Amino acid sequence: MIHTDFSPGLIRDLAGLIEEAEYVLIGAGAGLSADAGYDYLESVKFLKRYPYLKDIGVHCRYHSIGFVWPTKSMEWAFYARQLEEDLYGPPPHPEPYVQLRRLTDHANRWVFTSNADDLFSRLGFDPERTWTVQGTFANLQCQRPCCEEVWDSRPYIERLLPCVDLKTGELKDRSAVPVCPHCGGDMILNVRGGSWFVEKPYKRQRAAFNEWLKRAAAGRLVVIEIGAGFNTPSVIRWPCEVITARHHNAHLIRINPHHPKTQFSVGERATSIAMRASPVLSVLSKPAQRTMKLSSARAGSELCSKNGEKDVTQGL
Ligand SMILES: [Zn+2]
Repeated sequence: MIHTDFSPGLIRDLAGLIEEAEYVLIGAGAGLSADAGYDYLESVKFLKRYPYLKDIGVHCRYHSIGFVWPTKSMEWAFYARQLEEDLYGPPPHPEPYVQLRRLTDHANRWVFTSNADDLFSRLGFDPERTWTVQGTFANLQCQRPCCEEVWDSRPYIERLLPCVDLKTGELKDRSAVPVCPHCGGDMILNVRGGSWFVEKPYKRQRAAFNEWLKRAAAGRLVVIEIGAGFNTPSVIRWPCEVITARHHNAHLIRINPHHPKTQFSVGERATSIAMRASPVLSVLSKPAQRTMKLSSARAGSELCSKNGEKDVTQGL
């Protein structure tokens, strides 16, 4: 069932489902990172930070994915600053992740996500119970690749950052461009983008995830899918539906303001909320507020108490 209003009854139903869950699977797409402040389609702030990218057609983070850069110098100057902001800096709005963790801490929990920003492990989720399906910015790999090894990106980024020319977007010292420690060839971020992707680190995560899923099938499983649309639906979105369809004790909670509808046959075992994650998680993570009489809130709008005294989305 799709809800565009977040009623007190719906809050109670969702809170009850999650509280009674023995197992919780969180499937997260780009929408959750956008709520944390890393919006891959945002262009105003992006071009203010990277004005020199406007003329080459990179106007937002999303445009940089798979982009063929004019020079290696410009490519690594961009990645250095992007990772400084998106991986090593504090997330602008950590609240949705903190609230999601608080909401599901009681359960046997796993996370799988298409996001490469490591926000789950950075904000307190167990990295041993997180499958980063598309890789992570925290790793670099050989571009060829000559081996299945990956390397921590941080020392490379720390060497690159002082070399970035903020006016041109190039490196002042091109010897800082990372090269493969084995073959001396080019390196690249270890995120899925082609057949060159080194998947070895994530195969281990996938195997552990599948073992956990077998155990979860015997108990009450709640699948919470957030912000997974149709850019790559086969990564998070469809698996969440298929897992729910196959596990008869499972219930899917989909939080997605743009694409709430389910495709697979899960019947009454799916509750879709056509809203952003922030207001939903804000209310659900505060037990005392689940019983508040809330005014209806349209998709994407802020939630307010009925008498307007307090915005319940404030605070963690
Ligand atoms: Zn190599």
